[in-house]
Amino acid sequence: MNAKPEPTSFAELEFQYSFTIFAVHFFLTLYKSSTMVNLILFGPPGAGKGTQSEKLIQKYGFVHISTGDLFRWHTKNETELGKRVKEIMNSGSLVPDEITISMLKEELDKNPKAKGFLFDGFPRTVAQAEALDTFMKAQGTAIHFVIALDVTEQEVRSRIAKRRTIENRIDDEEDKLNKRITEYFTKTIHVLPYYEKQGRLKTVHGIGNIDEIFKNVCAILDTK
Ligand code: AMP
Repeated sequence: MNAKPEPTSFAELEFQYSFTIFAVHFFLTLYKSSTMVNLILFGPPGAGKGTQSEKLIQKYGFVHISTGDLFRWHTKNETELGKRVKEIMNSGSLVPDEITISMLKEELDKNPKAKGFLFDGFPRTVAQAEALDTFMKAQGTAIHFVIALDVTEQEVRSRIAKRRTIENRIDDEEDKLNKRITEYFTKTIHVLPYYEKQGRLKTVHGIGNIDEIFKNVCAILDTK
């Protein structure tokens, strides 16, 4: 004799529905974190972050987020944000965290399908590093590598003196450059121990042949 199945209660249906949603979300998050690689290129102005970024984007297809480039775009196009940061940038000081972090968040939101992000010139303060971790976590991912390009102050000064004759950036002028170097050694350098504690920091010697430096950066990335 076949017993008539009990009708599924509303509570049971609700449980099954919630469980399915949870499982789908869990596996999507797991898939995303296993396929995505997010990298921070770290170093003082003139360390070669821009040059290495170009090569890395070509090889790995990263979405490149350079906060310096974004701020320059805003000042050039005279947006509201550009008008707010122009003087700060021209003086060689750091733009306040609140403005920088909200611009970065907007940029992340524009790229929901990114295979991986390459952050160049961000984070420059510990508050920015903490905000970035929060954003990555909310997306079910993380910062996998922080690669610091190790260059001396003397090398940076000589590279920027050369760039000054080509690009004519106001903040490359001697007094502004001094301010940028001071900002690096008083604020930005403190970001390194933050990532060192997390075991994510790698250092690459940043002086010499560009392709050789690139090869050493790739060797780190290829361990993932
Ligand atoms: P960069 O081209 O990366 O050297 O950036 C140029 C300028 O943009 C810096 O000197 C700062 O005024 C501003 N800037 C870029 N990135 C940041 C950041 N993460 N935090 C604060 N200011 C920034």
